[in-house]
Amino acid sequence: MIVSIHMIAGHRLMAGCLLTLLLASAVSAAPLLPRSAAVPGGVAIVELPTNAKKAPVVHYRKKRVMVQKQHGHWQAIVGIALSAKVGKHQLQLAGQATPVSFQVDDKAYAEQRLTLKNKRKVNPNAEDMTRIRGERGRINAALRHWAPQAKMDARFVLPVTGRLSSPFGLRRFFNEQARKPHSGIDIAAPEGTPIRAPAAGTAIERGEFFFNGNSVFIAHGQGLVTMYAHMSRIDVQPGQRVARGEVIGAVGHTGRATGPHLHWGVSLNDARVDPALFFDDLESLLTAPIKTHRKNTR
Ligand SMILES: [Zn+2]
Repeated sequence: MIVSIHMIAGHRLMAGCLLTLLLASAVSAAPLLPRSAAVPGGVAIVELPTNAKKAPVVHYRKKRVMVQKQHGHWQAIVGIALSAKVGKHQLQLAGQATPVSFQVDDKAYAEQRLTLKNKRKVNPNAEDMTRIRGERGRINAALRHWAPQAKMDARFVLPVTGRLSSPFGLRRFFNEQARKPHSGIDIAAPEGTPIRAPAAGTAIERGEFFFNGNSVFIAHGQGLVTMYAHMSRIDVQPGQRVARGEVIGAVGHTGRATGPHLHWGVSLNDARVDPALFFDDLESLLTAPIKTHRKNTR
């Protein structure tokens, strides 16, 4: 399974170079959208059958979906949950009875096994569970944030430079117990390394959470939300506007973390999606790939 991931990564690198050459002079007028990958944990870009002047209202699984006009056509930019089933999925377009279908294809993600000494962070006690349930409500509300925004900037700058210590979508086992797949990427960097906003947005939530430690959520508009966990400090307050590249806090190892790193999540219409899709070539921006990558590509 690890091998297949690296073949995909290599292929993507070549495709990225070609695309850069082909599009270098033509991209400036188009909206800055994520790359399309209609797989669990990916983003589908779906043509909408409408000539409406105003942005159409589209829902997927009862959640409002980002729309953008590209080359004169409206498109839905749909986040697909890691738990999504392979097959036909449907969008509801307001004012139209017939749903718009799109296909979700399969993607195999690798496994990761971790051993944590602090057993309470693996099997929280009753008191911890009460706290976790309370926090979950705040986290879910932040991830469901919707605010209208005409022109999206969904091409990101890297929030922190470091080593990719855990990629997106890993099927994780803590002390041999299966947990939810990895919903973001982990970038290992020294404690205190500044974390920067990947695009302009508004801080909508911050807190000190049981699993995620010091965390902040930034809304970028139309259901695109980024989250930052395990921070040593947070420099922004809810309601505060942040510019692309502005420092929002620093790397730490608060919450459930084995060492200092940034857990960075990207959410689109409340689906956690692969942050790599918001870059031409994310891996080339990180200082060193994970060990298994090196082993399989050399
Ligand atoms: Zn993580």
